[in-house]
Amino acid sequence: MDTGLDDGPDLWDDAGSDSEIDDEDMRNNVNPFDDDEVEAFFRLPESQAKLQAELLGDYKCPDEPPPDHSRDWGTSLTDEERWSIKMWLTWKRSNGTVNAYTHLHSLLEEALGLKLLSLHMVRRLTRDITGIYPTYVDVCPNNCIAFTGPFKELSQCPAVLKVKDPGKKGKYLHTPCLAPRYISNLSAVKPEPQCQMIVLPVMAKIKAMFRNAETSQELRYRDSMMKHILHLLAQGKEFAYRDYGTGTVQRELLYRGRSFTKTSFEPNSRTRELALAITTDGVQLTMKKESDTWVLMLIVLDFPDIIRYLIENIIIILVTQGPKPPGNLESFLYIFFAEMAQGSEGLWIWDALDNAYFVLKSFVVLGLADQLGSAKLNGLVGHIGRLGDRFSEIISARPTEKGKHLYYPLFSPHISTWNPNRPAYDPKNLPLQTEEKYWEIIDRLNAAEGNLNEQKRITTESGILRLPLAASSKAFIHPSLFFPSDPFHLLYENCGAWLWDLLIQSGFLPDMQAKIFGQLLHDANSTLPPSFCGPVRNIYLKRNSQYKIYEWMALVHWYAVPIMLSIGVDLRVVANYAKFVAIVESATRLTGHTERDLEELEDIIIAFLKTYEYIYVRSSEDIARCRLCLLHLLHIPRHIRWFGNFRLGSQATCELGVGRLGRKVRSAKAPFKHMANLAVEDEVQRSLDLILPNIHPNPTRKGGSRFEPRIAKTIRQYIIPKTLLPRDVQYHLEAIILSGLWPNWSSRQSKGAGIDMSGVTRWSRYKTIHDKVTVSSVLGESKVQVGGNKRTSRFFEAQGSNGKLLWGEALAFYKLDDESHEPLVAYHPFELKKHTYGLYRTGQIHRETIQVIEVDRILALVGIFAYEDNVYILRKHGALEMLQVDDSGATLLEDEDEFRDEEMEYHDI
Ligand SMILES: [Zn+2]
Repeated sequence: MDTGLDDGPDLWDDAGSDSEIDDEDMRNNVNPFDDDEVEAFFRLPESQAKLQAELLGDYKCPDEPPPDHSRDWGTSLTDEERWSIKMWLTWKRSNGTVNAYTHLHSLLEEALGLKLLSLHMVRRLTRDITGIYPTYVDVCPNNCIAFTGPFKELSQCPAVLKVKDPGKKGKYLHTPCLAPRYISNLSAVKPEPQCQMIVLPVMAKIKAMFRNAETSQELRYRDSMMKHILHLLAQGKEFAYRDYGTGTVQRELLYRGRSFTKTSFEPNSRTRELALAITTDGVQLTMKKESDTWVLMLIVLDFPDIIRYLIENIIIILVTQGPKPPGNLESFLYIFFAEMAQGSEGLWIWDALDNAYFVLKSFVVLGLADQLGSAKLNGLVGHIGRLGDRFSEIISARPTEKGKHLYYPLFSPHISTWNPNRPAYDPKNLPLQTEEKYWEIIDRLNAAEGNLNEQKRITTESGILRLPLAASSKAFIHPSLFFPSDPFHLLYENCGAWLWDLLIQSGFLPDMQAKIFGQLLHDANSTLPPSFCGPVRNIYLKRNSQYKIYEWMALVHWYAVPIMLSIGVDLRVVANYAKFVAIVESATRLTGHTERDLEELEDIIIAFLKTYEYIYVRSSEDIARCRLCLLHLLHIPRHIRWFGNFRLGSQATCELGVGRLGRKVRSAKAPFKHMANLAVEDEVQRSLDLILPNIHPNPTRKGGSRFEPRIAKTIRQYIIPKTLLPRDVQYHLEAIILSGLWPNWSSRQSKGAGIDMSGVTRWSRYKTIHDKVTVSSVLGESKVQVGGNKRTSRFFEAQGSNGKLLWGEALAFYKLDDESHEPLVAYHPFELKKHTYGLYRTGQIHRETIQVIEVDRILALVGIFAYEDNVYILRKHGALEMLQVDDSGATLLEDEDEFRDEEMEYHDI
């Protein structure tokens, strides 16, 4: 997952951090805790209420819906307008050039005998229909600030740039930016801004969503989930945490009644509510580091999670202009938060499903970002200082007398050496950051305004820098309940990577063994299905060359434990790592967690941290191995309770949308402008698709409706030549007779006369009913694999006739033409010997044996890791589901050219 921010400061990393707060920073109104080159101090009002009032202005939701029933575009378009829109949609969907538009325009005019709208006019029309009129906001040409809110009236950038001092290493210079807002042109009547960005109106898109009956129906998911949970709770029944609507934060908001209310559940309520998550991510438009563009989007939590992250259901707020990253991100978001202030008061919206107006109240309930983005949005100082954990009040420890307070050991007897007065903590009962204390500190910070030393003291003591703009949301309680951890970053890029480095650093994986580890990892690709993820590289050689997120996932979920066992790593280390894997598996699974599951998860996390410190912390210096990311594992059960799901904190899906936008950009001269315009047009197009679903349906969208499943090409068919039978077919058919699964057919076979093949067809692969993945077979792969290092998809997991799971290596699939019996798969069985650490199933493949079962018993495709006599089953893990195909590098079997029919002919007799 390339965020484009890989070279940014790693907030977990202790290198380069500095717990001393610079006086000069405070004087200069610079955020002294941010490593960014540009930062400006955002003066915020004294309290949340004041902030909300400021953003809201004098808006009030009218008592009655708007009298003018807005134009019914579906019936009132002229022929010219209709064809112009059809043409524009076609052109948009094919990402055509302006030149292409001109050609299309003249061609269609000739064919239809109509005068069609120019590109300019059709754009205007589509904006009239969708209501998407973007706001143009002046920004500093250096991207320090947007001229909004407190900066609105300024004509010069007020930010103080923090630049590296070329004279003194590690020191910074503070120089005012002072970039003028306008191009100096004395003759101009109206001053012309140097630089602008586009902010999209989000409520227009939401209005469009409700104008579509199907989407309006989909938007009732969170409501119905909440109703269900409240019902279960009222009856004292158990429920599973699964999605935002099941979490305690959502219920807390409901009980407070300032944002969400129970009345909105009532059948004929005129008011309904929407829960939104703001998410931000960077994208690089060129390979140069200087082209850092940020995209801010909204995720609508009211959609069912299976469709929530589709790009058509995500709302783009703004795209910042590169090449520099935004300095004061909140000033860029000011217009958006002002729109949301109105949105949370209520807006009249037309609902196509009910055919009526209703008042919609929309609330931003979550802020999702990687750590760089979070630091700009949450108003906390990050990991520096004595209170570096933003969820708890655990005081950090230092490893040496002069060492920095950056580490979070919990159990080691070595803690007391250099941290004699640090309290002992009970991992089951950590002192958490509380709402009460948070607002008390915000009050103290406000009271100390003008007194930099006092503000600095409060910030150092509390970890709180200022009230974030996000606090203007009525659904903001305090930062812990608004800004969740990013699961992928925490589990894989932080903990996963650190545990690998520690194996090497601690000497438990000496260089020679690490080399073998890397080679085994590389070789294991051949038995990992390509539909799982892309190839996993040799970590020994490629650790530092942008090891991808799916590669870390593969290491953690599948390979680390089996490979360590294979090469004889200290078993205590392996057992400890296996506990980590169990934590990750639980945290990322799809099926939800009951209260009991969460208690179990907490016990595993504590056991992991305890053994971790026992193994790796052998002296006081080793305290430096107790990193903050490991402590954060302890917060996972809490996160699941709060937000219903740990994976909700991920912005991986957002990255996909950003990547797509970036790939469409073709203007090398003005890429940022092009990208911002594309973002607007994409939103206009998606809104048009919602408002006028029938004007020009997208022909590339499969199956028409998004809910209609694609008819799967099930099995490719290869007729067995009647005259020439390969020997293996004979064996398979004998196994079928032995199995008794085809009794009618078997009874027709006469003893000693050879097997009668008539009426039997065999296939090389089969698409499972259960997870719609194609299982291949030895028959399908034997030809293709010669010479290449192809990856295989022929191992499967199935439900045995005794109800137990079984595994096999598929040989071929068989079906009777008269369909008198179920289709079968012939396979080499896999004998399960034992479970390793409760996670891995190990055994042996019996290649001397052939068995058969009904194909419909196949549950899933699996990979294997084989070493000497041990074979480990690798199942597709839940975290991969969160990555889109682009990010996971997975290829679906259907898309592979190598599997052309003619190659499947076999001549081996
Ligand atoms: Zn500036």
